[in-house]
Amino acid sequence: MTIDEIKEFLKKNNLKVTPVRLQVLKVLLESDIALSHSDISIKLADGNIDKVTLYRTLNNFHEKGIIHKVATEDRNWLYAILIEDESKPEPDHSHAHFVCDDCDKIFCFPLSTATNESVRSIKQGFLVKEQEIRLHGLCPSCQS
Ligand SMILES: [Zn+2]
Ligand SMILES: [Zn+2]
Repeated sequence: MTIDEIKEFLKKNNLKVTPVRLQVLKVLLESDIALSHSDISIKLADGNIDKVTLYRTLNNFHEKGIIHKVATEDRNWLYAILIEDESKPEPDHSHAHFVCDDCDKIFCFPLSTATNESVRSIKQGFLVKEQEIRLHGLCPSCQS
């Protein structure tokens, strides 16, 4: 995504374009893994963004459904961009998380609608609002 496309993306989600939002979104878009607050801090081009601003920005994105939070095995929060299929009007909140048992990185994988449906219809009377499927194994770089 180019800077212009990121600006469009923010506007489309009713968020004012600010330098902080642009930078944070760029970091999240460029990462194929979920990032912690400090991972994002380190990757930010402008080291002057304070903790509070970063938290507020991430919360903003989360409220808008642009990003989602993933809990690590040791109960820390990681943030990742929500993979959106342009062909679908609604963002698909259901996807799988692949946890690498060696480097502890968490990868997001979209799930097919067919899989979602079968999981949702498991029990009567339960309303699934969000589901998370966790896969464990070794990521490509930990297998070599
Ligand atoms: Zn790994
Ligand atoms: Zn995810």
